[in-house]
Amino acid sequence: MNVIPLRQPETKRRKSEAAPISPTFGISSEVKDWAQSRGITKLAERLEHFTDYCRATGKEYKDFDAAFRNACRQDWARLGTNDGVQAMTCAKCHGSLSNGWTGSSKGKLCNSCYASR
Ligand SMILES: [Zn+2]
Repeated sequence: MNVIPLRQPETKRRKSEAAPISPTFGISSEVKDWAQSRGITKLAERLEHFTDYCRATGKEYKDFDAAFRNACRQDWARLGTNDGVQAMTCAKCHGSLSNGWTGSSKGKLCNSCYASR
């Protein structure tokens, strides 16, 4: 008679323990509001990168909203952040925007470029 060792049934998992990402994980309205208040954009792309990252690595988290916020903050998807170095230069002269800027169809322009556009 063959005795096949049985694995422990995985029913012991408590709610507070880390778990793999849900196949239905999405952007909650909470995270949406948070991203908006931080000026974080491209949420759909960030979500796609995050979910693929979790599935690819088998990453488990206790709180996926928090993990996703970290992914946004640290720009895991490398999409650039609105307040990152890339975005903080004038679209025309590539100078600093620290003295103020104005958004235009070409991007953020420093005051002098905006005045002479
Ligand atoms: Zn400029």
